[in-house]
Amino acid sequence: MTQSNFLLPFAFENQVAHGAIVQVEAGVAEFFAHRPYSEAVGRLLREALAAMPLFTTHMRFEGRINLQFQGDRRMELLVAQIDHHLNARAMAKAPADLNGSFTELLYGGILALLMEPSTEGVPASQALVLIEGDSLSQALEGYFERSEQLPTLIRLAVRGDRIAGFMLQRMPLQSAQGSQDDWEHLWTLASTLTPDELLDVEPTRLLDRLFHEDAVRVFDARPVQVVCRCSRAGISRMLLSLGQKEVDEILAEQGRVSVTCEFCGQEHVFTPHDAHELFKAADESGPEDDIRH
Ligand SMILES: [Zn+2]
Repeated sequence: MTQSNFLLPFAFENQVAHGAIVQVEAGVAEFFAHRPYSEAVGRLLREALAAMPLFTTHMRFEGRINLQFQGDRRMELLVAQIDHHLNARAMAKAPADLNGSFTELLYGGILALLMEPSTEGVPASQALVLIEGDSLSQALEGYFERSEQLPTLIRLAVRGDRIAGFMLQRMPLQSAQGSQDDWEHLWTLASTLTPDELLDVEPTRLLDRLFHEDAVRVFDARPVQVVCRCSRAGISRMLLSLGQKEVDEILAEQGRVSVTCEFCGQEHVFTPHDAHELFKAADESGPEDDIRH
């Protein structure tokens, strides 16, 4: 496998557990280029980005998974999102100089995992747990244990802008076979995984190395992208829904309309001329089109 950004799902033939490996590097530096975060916050964001693709391996809907850490300490918010095409992004609200351990930044806050299907009629769902553990991966393990009753081992590794994640999860009880001993055997093997191995070893080799005596079925690798969904077209839609009067007021006050994306930090600027053209085009194509495009 030469591809640099991918998710590799796997399952054990004995139906005791399944899991996934993710390794990502391309796009990470570019994604964070406009958002200067402190070292500690930048690291947590990269860990959250590495974790998101792991959660999609058993996603049964089209749409988005939204992970939020709401701190009650100095770190206000960390959000990571991924859609069913495996486009991932993350942002944090925290003082620029905020540093400290995971516990100091987020322990005791709330972890929320939101499932947001894009298909009409499929309801969104949300689960909340208290943030516990010494690391982001432990907090996520706690989420699966307490909210979904699924014993889970999660490892996340970061080196510069190279990020990687590993998940081993007990199959849901109704479909699980094998004994608790079988699960503990796999858990013990997986827990020997080091951050360097996770970052550097090609994933099928990594699975061989960890579980060489157990029959593992490896599924097709899927590409992962670290990108922001914000676009000039999206901001244009927002301005149209705001209405010409409101936009004219902003232009009169500030000379231009500037919208900065809170995820990637990119600034989208509309001059009076741009705004004029935008509303003119919308008038010409009719109001129906404004909503659809
Ligand atoms: Zn953006």
